[in-house]
Amino acid sequence: MLNNVPNVVHTSAEPMPATAGHVPLLTAVEGPVLLPDDIGYGEECRTFNLSRALTPAVVVGATHTDDVAAAVRHAGRLGMPVAVRNQGHQVVLPTAEDALLITTNRLQEISVDPGRRTVRVGAGVTWAQVLTETDKTGLAPIVGSAPHVGVIGYTLGGGLSPLLGRKLGYAADHVRWMEVVTADGAVREVTPERLPDLFWALLGGKGNFGVVTRMEFDVFPFPRFYGGGLWFRGEEMLPVLEAWRALVPELGEDTMTSFSVQRLPDVAALPQPLRGAFVLHVRLGHLGDSTTGARIAAPLRAAATPVFDTLTERPFGEIGEIHRDPVHAMPLVETGFALREFSAGTLGRLMELTGPGSGCSMKNVEVRALGGALDREPARPNSVSSRGVPYMTFAVGSGSPAQLRTMAEFARAYAGGLTPWRAPHHVINFLSPDEALSEAEVRDVYGAERYARLAALKRVYDPANMFRFNHNIKPAA
Ligand SMILES: Cc1cc2nc3c(=O)[nH]c(=O)nc-3n(C[C@H](O)[C@H](O)[C@H](O)COP(=O)(O)OP(=O)(O)OC[C@H]3O[C@@H](n4cnc5c(N)ncnc54)[C@H](O)[C@@H]3O)c2cc1C
Repeated sequence: MLNNVPNVVHTSAEPMPATAGHVPLLTAVEGPVLLPDDIGYGEECRTFNLSRALTPAVVVGATHTDDVAAAVRHAGRLGMPVAVRNQGHQVVLPTAEDALLITTNRLQEISVDPGRRTVRVGAGVTWAQVLTETDKTGLAPIVGSAPHVGVIGYTLGGGLSPLLGRKLGYAADHVRWMEVVTADGAVREVTPERLPDLFWALLGGKGNFGVVTRMEFDVFPFPRFYGGGLWFRGEEMLPVLEAWRALVPELGEDTMTSFSVQRLPDVAALPQPLRGAFVLHVRLGHLGDSTTGARIAAPLRAAATPVFDTLTERPFGEIGEIHRDPVHAMPLVETGFALREFSAGTLGRLMELTGPGSGCSMKNVEVRALGGALDREPARPNSVSSRGVPYMTFAVGSGSPAQLRTMAEFARAYAGGLTPWRAPHHVINFLSPDEALSEAEVRDVYGAERYARLAALKRVYDPANMFRFNHNIKPAA
């Protein structure tokens, strides 16, 4: 911890080392304060995407809200930008070299109130931890496909569930209360009644408006669901996707589905029929019994014979089984955007880009069907940008540096190939680094009107753009 502190008391005319400026942090915060040469610095700055390293000037491991506030005030005094990391799944702007990084994973408060049907969490809590607690009560949170991601980062970016989304909307739509440290270092309580503008901006604006240290949200009585995946041979993806395309408009709001064209690695962690295989993975989540769920899945099973089938009735805590997302950090290339339709034309182009004989290098190319309550404005207004987006696509892959370069080429070709079907807005949580680079791109994602309101609020709450290591909303001039 600031292991070269003895050197920072300078009496000579030599320039002060950069570390000297951070000495006040040692007494201001209880958690670790680490500089690039310190033991533990690399682990404290870890990210899920190993291609997006964080190397800030100093990192503060916050242990409670006051640590976050002290770190933000310290950065403010030095004119430093502040980056935030919990589980590190969405580092949009890497390195953050000149920044003070606040890590929130030690903020571990978690409490369930079954009577009020609410959960309160600290900024370090993951969905997996919440599920362990809520499963004891039969209540369900609006968790995403990967329970190992952080609750607060996910929810500030909207929070798209592969099971509850069409029924209940985004996770952000069901937030009741937040505690946030804003750029001036103040700790504020934010509700739809108290600071409604900041409440609106935080939920959808993600990390642009401060560090959310605690959050309370609603949970719902869904103890069980029917769901999982059907994997088909890649060579049979066309008839299955034709069935999927016909199925989606028929679905009620209690059912969600997506698919992923996968080129899987040959690893023991995968069940035998999937090792090293080219497959189509169709996902389904239904908030009802197995008889109805199986009836919904019947046209998919009829289109081709699955090589692996995990559709079954499950406790809600098994929601991660719908997607079976990878949990280990790895170098990644990704691209993602919204689609205004999934027509015969969209499917035809997708087949050319990813189907048999396409030479597609990307490991996973996913399309999710949205709609239902995801399109409706919530009772507690927020700035979620993707209402009315019927489909979204996300392509991601990992591999050697040479493979990553090939996948980056594919990502560009994929985005270019689907341009005619691209929708203007997008789900913030699926913005890849390359899709969040310019102000114009971020404005497109939100739309001009919503972006203008966000930029005006950014000028109020973060006029110096302290929180800029994200898909950045620039303070209005
Ligand atoms: C495998 C996988 C599957 C996913 N599936 C879904 C899904 O189904 N639905 C969905 O909506 N998203 C999904 N995501 C996206 C995911 O929700 C976001 O990447 C989320 O931010 C991850 O949480 P984290 O703790 O890793 O965030 P981090 O990477 O630690 O933080 C990401 C950013 O969030 C902001 N942030 C984080 N914590 C705070 C805080 N306390 N206060 C202010 N800002 C903060 C900051 O801008 C930070 O840069 C998925 C991601 C992965 C890797």
